[in-house]
Amino acid sequence: MCFGLCMIAGAPALAAPDGTLSIAVSTGTPALGDPVVVEVTASGAVDNLVVRWKGAAWPMRETAPGRYEGLIGVDIEESVGPAVVGAEGFLDGARVRAEAKVTISPRKFPVQELTLPKGMTEFDDATLGRIRAEAAELSRRFSRVTPPRWRTPFLPPVEEYRPANFGARRVINGDPRMPHSAVDIHLPEGTPVRAIADGRVAFAGEQFFGGRSVVIDHGGGVFSVYYHLREFSVTEGQETPRGDRIGSVGATGRATGSHLHFGVRVPGGRVDPTRLFALPGR
Ligand SMILES: [Zn+2]
Repeated sequence: MCFGLCMIAGAPALAAPDGTLSIAVSTGTPALGDPVVVEVTASGAVDNLVVRWKGAAWPMRETAPGRYEGLIGVDIEESVGPAVVGAEGFLDGARVRAEAKVTISPRKFPVQELTLPKGMTEFDDATLGRIRAEAAELSRRFSRVTPPRWRTPFLPPVEEYRPANFGARRVINGDPRMPHSAVDIHLPEGTPVRAIADGRVAFAGEQFFGGRSVVIDHGGGVFSVYYHLREFSVTEGQETPRGDRIGSVGATGRATGSHLHFGVRVPGGRVDPTRLFALPGR
């Protein structure tokens, strides 16, 4: 499949001819919730190289001279069908770009019917105000773009990683709700939780739904989210090396039992963390 320049799905980008970029993606047919590694090769150093996806641009990371890597993803509510991944920057003073076509494929998610007491599903105006303010504040933090610090392989946040519920279409007391954009990992209170990659704490605080919550910015638009913690041991702005303990599993916030609600957001949206851990390391 060619689109100006050739895309080789699942293979490293070929060396690019002088003055051009070449692009490759880890899969040409990503499903809903899939992360996609984008690799760019150039005949020289590219200035201000960005990956373009879903109408926005994020910085890419140099992995070797003339070789760059980015991470994007297909949101769990994205529409299926053809899409284009682009890369562009400046090479020897001239603007250069490359594009790869992908086809977003569907994925079946489980439907989860829950019956909860009214107090857990209906909120007064003050609570609704708090919920909206917290969501807006988190969106602001997710929109900040910092230089990429993540690298593969990512590390599962708990030793016994047994994910459940990713993408579940929830029906609560008969009403369809937002899909569950993370995984739930049921573990005893106090189980250590660790950072899945190098990063910096973008949020550490108490939320209505998430309870004690931590968000780590791994750069390049990649964030990891940890909710319902019994306690957290990091503060906003703190550096968190991959594998560092950031807190422990709990049941704070709107949780029906002790578990870690763990999510990953990449450029493009909310992806399945389990598929992130399956990405090959380098
Ligand atoms: Zn959850």
